[in-house]
Parts: sequence; C-alpha cells; structure tokens
Amino acid sequence: MRSMLKPRLAVDSIFDIDFQPLWDSGYKNMILDVDNTITAWNTYSVSDKLKKWVLKLENKGFCICLLSNNNQEKVQQFASELGVIAAPRGGKPLLGAFQSAITALNADHRNTLIIGDQLFTDILGGNRAGLYTILVEPIDKKEFIGTRFVRILENLFTGRSY
Ligand SMILES: [Mg+2]
Repeated sequence: MRSMLKPRLAVDSIFDIDFQPLWDSGYKNMILDVDNTITAWNTYSVSDKLKKWVLKLENKGFCICLLSNNNQEKVQQFASELGVIAAPRGGKPLLGAFQSAITALNADHRNTLIIGDQLFTDILGGNRAGLYTILVEPIDKKEFIGTRFVRILENLFTGRSY
C-alpha cells in the first residue's frame, strides 16, 4: 500500500518539472489532474502562464488529457478553452478512470505520465495503472472538507504539513 502511494517524482508545481528527461525516456502522453494541480480549486480560468505551459508541451510533442473527478461538463469546457482533451469520465482512483484517459490519448500506460496533487486519487490510481506519477503541491488550501480529511490521512503517510 505504502509504495503505491509513493510518486516517482515530487515537485512544488507543474512549472518546476523538467520534461526533457521524461520525453527522452519515452513518455509522450500526459494526464493532468485539474483542481489544485493546474488551477486553483474550482477556479476554471485559463491563465496566460498555464496556456503557455500547455503550448510549450504540445510543441514538444506531448499529448495532454485532463482527468478530474469534478463536474464533467466543467472539465470538458475547461479542456476546450485550454486546447486539450478531457477524459470522458472521472472516478479516480478507480482504474477505469485512468484507462479512459489512456484510451482518449490513444496511448499506453508505459508511455504516459500523470501529474496530480492528491496521493489517494492521482498517485495511488496512477501507480496502480502503471503510469509514471508526479506529485505537485496543491495550488491553494481552499478545499472542501472531504479533501481536507484526505489530506490529514496523507500527512500520516508522508509527513507533509499544510
Ligand atoms: Mg486535485
């Protein structure tokens, strides 16, 4: 259980990731969590910084798919504003959610990475799906109570403090 909760890489934010070595290792597809990973919780606006980050990755050749447990209509709308695709369903950490994103990307678990802020959804599910997992610090702390409870559990495993 513990090793399944361990990300392959942990960074402060998406902007701190050096994608060159990952690309060179064969990772060409990227699944992105939305809330608190690429945008503040439930704040679905596309910042210039985020848009530039996405364009840079796409120019490099990465295929990007959003995967969120939030309202799917909002996620689809956000994806189209960002110019990427979104998985047709949420439901992380269940395997089916990750599989739907991998299929949408026309990818394979061996050439796909996932970036997210939650151990029990993004990292646990990503590891179980055989993806390269990257944990980021959550963008903000304005989260609903359920997520807060999960954070307390996460801290027991990682010693991270919020
Ligand atoms: Mg999140």
